[in-house]
Amino acid sequence: MESIKELYKVGRGPSSSHTMGPEKACNYMKLKYSGDRYKVTLYGSLSLTGLGHLTDKVIKEVLGEVEIIFSPDSINEHPNTMDIEVYKDDVLIRTDRFYSVGGGSIVRDGESKSTTRTVYPHNTFDQIKEYCKNENLTLSEYVYRFEDRNIKFYLRGIWDVMKSSIKRGLSKEGILPGELQVLRKGKELHHKIKLLELKHGTGLKLAAAYAYAVSEENASGGIVVTAPTCGASGILPGVLQYLQDNHLFKDEKIIDGLATAGIIGNLVKHNASISGAEAGCQAEIGTACSMAAAANSELFKHNIDTIEYAAELALEHHLGLTCDPILGYVQIPCIERNAVAALRALNASELAVFLYDSRKISFDAVVETMLHTGRDLRPHYRETSEGGLAVYYNKVKSK
Ligand code: SF4
Repeated sequence: MESIKELYKVGRGPSSSHTMGPEKACNYMKLKYSGDRYKVTLYGSLSLTGLGHLTDKVIKEVLGEVEIIFSPDSINEHPNTMDIEVYKDDVLIRTDRFYSVGGGSIVRDGESKSTTRTVYPHNTFDQIKEYCKNENLTLSEYVYRFEDRNIKFYLRGIWDVMKSSIKRGLSKEGILPGELQVLRKGKELHHKIKLLELKHGTGLKLAAAYAYAVSEENASGGIVVTAPTCGASGILPGVLQYLQDNHLFKDEKIIDGLATAGIIGNLVKHNASISGAEAGCQAEIGTACSMAAAANSELFKHNIDTIEYAAELALEHHLGLTCDPILGYVQIPCIERNAVAALRALNASELAVFLYDSRKISFDAVVETMLHTGRDLRPHYRETSEGGLAVYYNKVKSK
């Protein structure tokens, strides 16, 4: 498996596969061939939800003079495909095809899926668990053993970006960009939960408010961390900030949580998919929930079997979750879904403590199941806005 630095990336929302990936592809072509004009053709999910996901905006920002075609065709190789043509003096000098494979990663047609260096010798949770038990390592120590020396520094930077996206999200009110007229709720929710806690000593966990804050930042094109994607970027920071506030974990411990969550996300990315266009929302929100559950368990020093169960539980109960963003905006159901998944991650981790020794499903098994379930989902339910809430919202609205 590759470094977790390839999983955690800092970028502009609202969608790692629809904004960060295309942005990277356009930058590559611009730097390599420096044309005077460009033509970009978007296929599949990139075409169907490109407007709501602001794909056209980011392409124009990078390439300047560019014609963008939203093709009705889909390409078998990948649901997120784009062609970039480069012109100089009105002559076509180069055409390349790119696949935006999730989490902001791109693959150029003809190149292998992973062009980055392998840093981990193990590719399944079972292999990692066996190694950790033999070597008496926690999952975060496992990460530090194989990553390069600056990994803690890198994760510290990731945590700083997460915290500032929460802070920015909590400071804003008003309507999110786009036709849906969705009201920002993070700030208000944070205020209400705090009041409830003051009155009753307990209440809805603040993790939900933090998840709202980050997801609203993402929806408005703000800077977030892919954890593992932009669409699911609220869950892990929401849980970690809650843990820091309520259990006073220092930043060094939070970084251990990020390391553990990173290895969980990496396993899903390597063995299945973290792309909603490829495998539905289970691949994005389900994976993020699993990462956050594992991080919570790591911080409370649960043993590796309990961490595995927490991660497995969190992913298993997202199996089959479809991706159906209304009008292609990463707003409904995405923002609320981040908040619910943050709460679910905490619950999964708590439940795992009691039941880890009686489970029958391994983390590796649920990851494989997720991939096959995703492939079985009709394309309607894989980030095309042609099924689910995206359709029924419009039907109800037009009655
Ligand atoms: S429904 Fe899920 S996978 Fe689809 S855009 Fe929203 S968060 Fe991403």
